[in-house]
Amino acid sequence: MAGDGSVKLIDEKGIRLDGRKVDELRPVNIKIGVIKNADGSAEIRMGKNIIVAAVYGPRELHPKHRALADRALIQCFYRMSTFSVSDRKSPAPSRREKEISLVISNALASVILTEKYPRTTIDVYLQVLQADGGTRTASLTAASVALADAGIPMKGLIASVAAGLINGQAVLDLFDIEDQKGSGDLPLGYCPVLDEISLLQLDGVFTVKQFEDSLNIAIKGAKDLYEIQRDALKQKYTDIRAEVEVPEKPKVEKPKAEEPKTEDPKVVPKPVLKVEKPKTEDPKPSKDDKKEVE
Ligand code: UDP
Repeated sequence: MAGDGSVKLIDEKGIRLDGRKVDELRPVNIKIGVIKNADGSAEIRMGKNIIVAAVYGPRELHPKHRALADRALIQCFYRMSTFSVSDRKSPAPSRREKEISLVISNALASVILTEKYPRTTIDVYLQVLQADGGTRTASLTAASVALADAGIPMKGLIASVAAGLINGQAVLDLFDIEDQKGSGDLPLGYCPVLDEISLLQLDGVFTVKQFEDSLNIAIKGAKDLYEIQRDALKQKYTDIRAEVEVPEKPKVEKPKAEEPKTEDPKVVPKPVLKVEKPKTEDPKPSKDDKKEVE
């Protein structure tokens, strides 16, 4: 975070090096269920960042003496792959990775209903495949969605994004060059459902006004991010439905009973009426008959 002003990060029209406005997020894409072995998982692409989150648990904790009698332990393991940055990153866990793992664990523990799973652990693995600034916040965003995918009960999702200072101005979602050259960084984790802040860090020197502007811009960005998280979760269920739903069979029309053929279909055949002859009384005996009788 040099803040040396040697690179013009925002032009006269307020447009940044990557073409964004000061209050604009990088393009975000969240995919659910990318790790089949995990209980829940998500992949986030935010600008050039690519991060995978995998959730396992609630499960038995080892060693057992670390278990908490009244709630689950939330353990996060944030790691940057050696190939995630242009200078090869050492595979050994750094202090920075341990710090990020801890702040993400604490943020998630504030929204997970941990008391439902006493003496267990919920493990969240966060693997950065490609880094371009703001990986801790993007990891927290992905972790939150992966926990929802695992069915872990939470008070709400956490959407996380940083704001920073460039030439004294509050700017949303810094990418790597802005992070290095800017003069301040304020990562935020925010739960829109509760309207609560679950993570807040600050690097650099801010005036009260700059702090307030940065916080407001970060909260607005987190709310936008939250919509993308929700859409990703909804998409998962839309995909499942499409997979399991049996396509409707085309209706086969039953052949109709054959109607009696008439020579001319327009001519309705007349009903044949049987007229019974009226019964007449016995005819009077003729003279000859009388003779016979006699
Ligand atoms: N970085 C790096 N090598 C490291 C650690 C970080 O190149 O060992 C880069 C990476 O691009 C990261 C950025 O520095 O995203 C800023 O790191 P920071 O500690 O501020 O955390 P982040 O902004 O990723 O949350």
